[in-house]
Amino acid sequence: VLKAEDQSALLGILGNEGLLCVGDYLAAYETAARYGAGIAAAVARPSDTSQVSAVVQYCVSKGLPFIPQSGNTGLVLGSTPDNSGAQIVLSLDRLRSPPQIDVANRSVTVAAGTRLSELNGCLEPHDLFLPIDLSADPMLGGMVATNTGGARFIKYGDMRRHVLGLEVVLPDRQGTTLALSRGLRKDNSHLDLRHLFIGSCGALGIITSAILEVHPRPQQTAAALVIPSADSTVMEILRKFETDAGDTLTAFEGISESAMRRTFAHIPSLRNPFGPAIPPYALLIELASSTRHRPGERSLEDFLQMLVMEMADRPEPLVTDAIFGDPAPFWALRHALSEGLRASGRIVGLDLSFHRNDVMRFRRVAIERLNEAFPDYEVCDFGHIADGGVHFNLVTRSNQPEDTTSSATRLRDYVLTLAVDEFGGSFSGEHGVGRSNQAAYDKFTPPSIQHYAGAISSLFSTAPAAAVRFGPRPLIGESNDQ
Ligand SMILES: Cc1cc2nc3c(=O)[nH]c(=O)nc-3n(C[C@H](O)[C@H](O)[C@H](O)COP(=O)(O)OP(=O)(O)OC[C@H]3O[C@@H](n4cnc5c(N)ncnc54)[C@H](O)[C@@H]3O)c2cc1C
Repeated sequence: VLKAEDQSALLGILGNEGLLCVGDYLAAYETAARYGAGIAAAVARPSDTSQVSAVVQYCVSKGLPFIPQSGNTGLVLGSTPDNSGAQIVLSLDRLRSPPQIDVANRSVTVAAGTRLSELNGCLEPHDLFLPIDLSADPMLGGMVATNTGGARFIKYGDMRRHVLGLEVVLPDRQGTTLALSRGLRKDNSHLDLRHLFIGSCGALGIITSAILEVHPRPQQTAAALVIPSADSTVMEILRKFETDAGDTLTAFEGISESAMRRTFAHIPSLRNPFGPAIPPYALLIELASSTRHRPGERSLEDFLQMLVMEMADRPEPLVTDAIFGDPAPFWALRHALSEGLRASGRIVGLDLSFHRNDVMRFRRVAIERLNEAFPDYEVCDFGHIADGGVHFNLVTRSNQPEDTTSSATRLRDYVLTLAVDEFGGSFSGEHGVGRSNQAAYDKFTPPSIQHYAGAISSLFSTAPAAAVRFGPRPLIGESNDQ
């Protein structure tokens, strides 16, 4: 609970609409997208950059801890408060203004509280879009803070590739506002600090607006669900598409049988194109082009079918089957997986990444070992495998009563150690770092990296302004705030 003097000072900055206190409806700001809910001391909702700066100044000077939050779709407990009841949520959801679109520069200036869907709605009449595609609808501030990847990474990359400029408020005593870069595509005239803030998960500063590069919308799209003849052919199929389809390849996603089976069972409105014989593994492959189909030219659908047929008609086929057609139902399946699995049991969700060649090998080894060591859990993975990303979800086989403790923690540790120590992978491919994986950060990040990251954090920030800590682990006796 905020002290009366803090409450009235923050009300003075934000007005009635800008401050929610205990007794107001706070649950949406306290509850994380997937699991976990904390207790907020209050929710501050500034409506412009100067209010962000004033709130930060006040909180830092009074030693009040705060956590930046945008769309609250993050999956690592980075945007919600812990259970102490001491942390203020600094929500950017009122930081909104119409995106300023510069068609000639192919860029847009956007406020942190703008939803991705809203931005793309504004860009559509100009035949432009921000091509970061995921099954959630985050806000742009959070997307920059987590460096969102998504399903079209192979073609367009992550948020980092799109940020041409940033405005940030530093968590220091002055609430310093920095304008980092000016929307230029080329500018080697200074040290480019903007990249430090992209993916910093709120630890270095609060992103209030961004200038983003946007792209021409695709004019033709073709997609297929392709069934590889064996795990070992998946990378060969990918390489063949990269060679023959070039930059029209926009997605190459892998989906396991267990993830599809559970999703179809729990989301009955979803069309199951396979019937009862769901294959062990399917690839969702998409080609797209920003040029229109001209009469007489081969269509992208025909081209995709031809490439897949070539792979099926070999003496040792790479592909055993494929379903072609309207891309929308294929993407509906892909985007429903996360929700479908959540409905089907308790999940230990891990966001791993590997060298591309190791993805299928890791799956094989992990599934084999986990069936032995943790038979109560089923591996239900899917992911952006063209970029080495795997959402490695472990879901309880039956809906057992809540076991929040030992087996889930042991399981998480077992898989992360296998992924990082044996396979040289990452414990957080694209979701960033928050309270749920702080322990993994402390364990797997080399001390020298933690040392320099901590030094950079303390250069920008004089307050603990986020759920994540990139510096060295706390001394014995200090809280690790799990
Ligand atoms: C169904 C589902 C699918 C998903 N799929 C993907 C995927 O494919 N790829 C992917 O990368 N992610 C995915 N995510 C994760 C999530 O959507 C992304 O991490 C997203 O970018 C978070 O944005 P947000 O606005 O919701 O941020 P939040 O959840 O509000 O915050 C995330 C982090 O950023 C910090 N933060 C938020 N706003 C700011 C700000 N303005 N300034 C500084 N720090 C800030 C927070 O403190 C927190 O640490 C998925 C999530 C869901 C629920």
